[in-house]
Amino acid sequence: MSFESLGLSTALLRAVQEQGYTEPTPIQSRVIPVVLAGRDVMGGAQTGTGKTAGFALPLLERLMAAGAPNGRRSVRALILTPTRELAAQVSESVRTYGKHVPLKSTVIFGGVSINPQIDTLRRGVDIVVATPGRLLDIAQQRHIDLSRVEIFVLDEADRMLDMGFLPDIRRVIAMLPRERQNLLFSATFPDDIRQLANKMLRDPVSVEIGQRNATADKIEQAVYFVDKGQKRGVLSWLVGSGNWQQVLVFTRTKHGANRLAEQLVDDGVSATAIHGNKSQGARTRALADFKRGAVRVLVATDIAARGLDINELPHVVNFDLPEVPEHYVHRIGRTGRAGRTGLAVSLVAGDERALLKQIERLLRQTLSVRPLDGYEPRREQHRERPRNAGERDAQTAHRHGQNRGQAERRGHGHRHGERRRQHGQRQHGQQR
Ligand code: AMP
Repeated sequence: MSFESLGLSTALLRAVQEQGYTEPTPIQSRVIPVVLAGRDVMGGAQTGTGKTAGFALPLLERLMAAGAPNGRRSVRALILTPTRELAAQVSESVRTYGKHVPLKSTVIFGGVSINPQIDTLRRGVDIVVATPGRLLDIAQQRHIDLSRVEIFVLDEADRMLDMGFLPDIRRVIAMLPRERQNLLFSATFPDDIRQLANKMLRDPVSVEIGQRNATADKIEQAVYFVDKGQKRGVLSWLVGSGNWQQVLVFTRTKHGANRLAEQLVDDGVSATAIHGNKSQGARTRALADFKRGAVRVLVATDIAARGLDINELPHVVNFDLPEVPEHYVHRIGRTGRAGRTGLAVSLVAGDERALLKQIERLLRQTLSVRPLDGYEPRREQHRERPRNAGERDAQTAHRHGQNRGQAERRGHGHRHGERRRQHGQRQHGQQR
């Protein structure tokens, strides 16, 4: 399928071509015609599938085709996103795709001065991309009129609800005209999203990419069964032997995140933790260091990661499996964007097998388990090994010894330097 066959104008096709897109992604080929037909959409798609262009292109097309009522500029499309970063990103996309179209757009979010945003609105815009809090502030001060909105987009609805935005969303919806087109996008569809969709959407067309709650195709997923106490060693080894340069690691607790980051540093892997107890400044710095590659591993809890727009990552690791299966989809959605592959690895200890089952049930897919020579859970380590298994076995046995040594050294409180040296040797051995 080509973009030309979707019914978009030349001005939009030109912008798409300038972006180097040769053909629509699956969500684009399904969503664009539906939006152009004026229908409401319930879209099951996560970041990385090309969903932004999926709604932005037909939105621009419709606004352009209808033209402004009585020739005056007013807010005719509203796109709500959960985070500032996503708002900025979506707004940038709207601007890019709408480059050759005579429509004006702007972005509104908190944490920066409100006055320039009000000034821009006063000069007149057609499309507003916003986070809910600042939008409501501005609306309360009567600097924005939402009564002429023709198209309303709720992006990453599940993340919005996770962040507690439901009351704000309801207040925003109350300001919109009843007659309008609604597009709701969500990576997952827990009950609260379904309820919101029922209220908000009118006879929607459901567009799902892959199965409901399925993860983006481009993400390779792997599971390693490993003892709890060996997870950290396995992580250092995976990062080192795979030469992973940018890794987002999820832990269940803040304390766990801190400890793991410290241990990784001890292992000679640059790492930092990000969580709610850190100041905004420290978090911003950690994130910037990670984004520019100065820090190789960012360890985060689900809550801390929620407000951050960290995407397009080559590697995501679930050091602990999330308690809530839907969080798994969010976590791994940060890797493998359109056209690129990503690897999402889960380290699963014996007491997490039930959680893994729940995740697999949600995904409707069994995740592939990769062998980890030398790090198998204890019960398997004691299984009799075949004789003459060759060089690989010898290597394995060698690593077994090192792991044991490492565990013992930890237990006896040896100095960090020693541990780092020992780890370095192991990595070196692996790479050969
Ligand atoms: P999104 O899921 O909207 O965040 O898009 C993910 C990435 O895919 C962005 O970097 C887009 O620029 C890119 N993208 C969107 N549509 C296409 C396409 N049709 N072909 C190639 N890349 C695309």
